[in-house]
Amino acid sequence: MRKKNYFAGPSVLPVEVLEQIRDNIVDYRGEGLSMIEASHRGGMFEEMYDECLASFRRLLGIGDDYDVYFLGGGATLQFTMIPLNFLTEGKVADYCKTGSWANKAASDAQKIGKVNVIFDGKESGYTTLPDPATLRPSENSAYLYLCANETIGGIEWKSFPDTGSVPLIADMSSDILSRPVDVSRFAMIYGGVQKNLGPAGATFIIMRKDMLERRRENLTAYMDYGLHSKEKGLYNTPPVFSIWAVKLVLDWIERNGGLQGMDRRAEEKSGLIYSVIDSSDFFRSPVDKAVRSRMNIVFRLPSEELEARFISESKAEGMLGLKGHRSVGGLRASLYNALPLEDVKALADFMVEFERKNG
Ligand SMILES: *Cc1c(COP(=O)(O)O)cnc(C)c1O
Repeated sequence: MRKKNYFAGPSVLPVEVLEQIRDNIVDYRGEGLSMIEASHRGGMFEEMYDECLASFRRLLGIGDDYDVYFLGGGATLQFTMIPLNFLTEGKVADYCKTGSWANKAASDAQKIGKVNVIFDGKESGYTTLPDPATLRPSENSAYLYLCANETIGGIEWKSFPDTGSVPLIADMSSDILSRPVDVSRFAMIYGGVQKNLGPAGATFIIMRKDMLERRRENLTAYMDYGLHSKEKGLYNTPPVFSIWAVKLVLDWIERNGGLQGMDRRAEEKSGLIYSVIDSSDFFRSPVDKAVRSRMNIVFRLPSEELEARFISESKAEGMLGLKGHRSVGGLRASLYNALPLEDVKALADFMVEFERKNG
């Protein structure tokens, strides 16, 4: 019996994908070896990799003027690579500090160059986001950086700032492919795959090719986007297992209505949980309603004691991962693309019943 999986990451995968991996793990499509035993140069890996990148491009409508590839090192490595490449002498980078993930990115950038914090949600406890129309990039800005969905805080940009000629860079680790995105408005979109796209290991990079002209000279090999662009992410050994699974997840998304389909699913699933929260005085959402996340729903109960009971009783019902991040406390339900609607209904029912017993 599979558990109901609300973990924030690594997180739930479509059961069909797990079954496809199981069926092919020893002998990939009758080739006589596993995908994870094959060389990443040529042959069956590159064929699969090219299909994976093509599917990613199709789903997001990514133009030929963008590179798409995968790297290792997690989304966290990009906190360093982005300023190392683009925050060059005499420039300043604009950061929106909106919670744990954007703040970590800003803090790494500050060690590399000059950062201008153009929004800081500190006063609200990182429970709200700025109106994108009010954000102005600095003069001489190398780029404007934001985190599209704060996985820990549970807030999500509903629209993005217009930065004119200043490159817009977004971390979309936890909401990628959950909604349509106009990629052409971004100079770079990246994220770890372990939230919405596959098992941990790979980081997707989508970058407008003209960004390469702006990069620092004399970077070491792995730190240089120019080299990865030239080698299509295959400069060194890529995380092959993770990429194979991502390919299968992308196929699953295409079979399930693409981004429109994922958008509808996200709306319906998050709506179920938020409506329980909104129609009760027992559950409370700490975040600004206008920007609450559809992927990571953060909520509180009247006391920490009740929260602890909620976690232990839900666990006994086979529901995992509902404890909030240690930095913010409370509860968090992550409702990524692959989480079945029935598992969200089960959580909504559990919440209603828990309130009836303890409210
Ligand atoms: C999980 C997460 C990260 C960190 O990803 P790693 O792959 O662990 O480095 C960065 N940004 C966001 C928004 C995340 O959710």
